[in-house]
Amino acid sequence: MKKKRRVYLDYAATVPVFPEVVQAMASYWTTKFGNPSSVHYLGQEARLAIDQSRAKIAGLLHCSPSEIIFTGTTTTSVNLALQGTALALQGKGNHLITSRIEHQAVLATVKGLERSGFTNTLIGVDQYGQINLSNLEKAINKDTIIVSTMYANNEVGTIQPIKKIARIVRQKEEELQTKIYFHVDGAACVGWLDLNLDRLDVDLFTLGAHKFGGPKGIGLLYAKKGTPIKPVLFGGHHEAGLWPGTEAAPLIVGMAKALEITLDKRKTVEPKARKLQDLLIKGMLQVPQAELTGHPENRLADIASFIIKGVEGEALLLYLSDKGIAASSGSACTSGELKPSHVLLAMGIQPELAHGSLRFSLGAETSKEDIDYVLAVLPKVVEKLRKIRKGIR
Ligand SMILES: *Cc1c(COP(=O)(O)O)cnc(C)c1O
Repeated sequence: MKKKRRVYLDYAATVPVFPEVVQAMASYWTTKFGNPSSVHYLGQEARLAIDQSRAKIAGLLHCSPSEIIFTGTTTTSVNLALQGTALALQGKGNHLITSRIEHQAVLATVKGLERSGFTNTLIGVDQYGQINLSNLEKAINKDTIIVSTMYANNEVGTIQPIKKIARIVRQKEEELQTKIYFHVDGAACVGWLDLNLDRLDVDLFTLGAHKFGGPKGIGLLYAKKGTPIKPVLFGGHHEAGLWPGTEAAPLIVGMAKALEITLDKRKTVEPKARKLQDLLIKGMLQVPQAELTGHPENRLADIASFIIKGVEGEALLLYLSDKGIAASSGSACTSGELKPSHVLLAMGIQPELAHGSLRFSLGAETSKEDIDYVLAVLPKVVEKLRKIRKGIR
């Protein structure tokens, strides 16, 4: 029997760990298993690996090693960034600003901070998912302590103008004679956008390794020197007292290696993915009543999302999965909930339509054959689902 074709187009949910990363981590699980806080040689081996990884990552991101805090995932990094900074500034200011299309990591943290007395403004986006800059500018006041935006949206792929946002924040700082901390959620952009933190003029930046070929369970927070952060978890003095608990040396080693490989390959992977994405979009737009969501040009090379009228996103995913195609509907975190994506709703898409959303996300291993296969299978599946739906109505 012929083996069923498998096409993974859900790289924005997670990326397989690079074999080189598995190899780099291997000895830190087994022979070099020491606790980095132990004074003996085994502990010191692990400590050295962490120090070297931190230095490597700092070099790749153009920041200082002391500005990097290893955490658990992007979500926990975001919690530390927003909660830690807000608590450190409580009393000086109590207002946070973010956008309506953020990942739940940001939206739920900002919402949670309301319980500690912080207020927030959620800025809207246009039909393409771009943050409304004039509303952002107007929302900043003397009480504002944090502005948080994503670098690029993980559902529709729209890139945010973070350099422009940084400029607005800095101008407002001058005008209002106050310091405002700019946080960027970079989880969806590693390998796709410029990661030179020196150039980006941000105060806080978060990312997680499993989105770029590193292991799950490790992320980092970049906090520019001088950024006040109060601990939100308590224990030992690990990670400058901001992330207590024994450091995961193997995962840290793995993240550093994955970042190195990803940034190294970006020059070849990005244009290749962009070409395949163009092919995918072109083909998808041939499907009757299918529309691309997100910005037509100002978009990540890996993420392409569509609205397909008259089909239920979840059903479509199951049928595609049956054909060996792994895709997603909106974000992995909201699917399973059967609620239309908050991102699509914020972009002005009707809830009825938002239910028929489909996200493909490409990776380094995606081939033209993969895209051809999807474009051959999908129209038939859509037709079938539309018929079923008509039948039951
Ligand atoms: C994936 C993702 C997150 C959350 O990452 P976790 O690994 O689930 O913590 C946050 N923000 C964006 C933009 C993401 O793509």
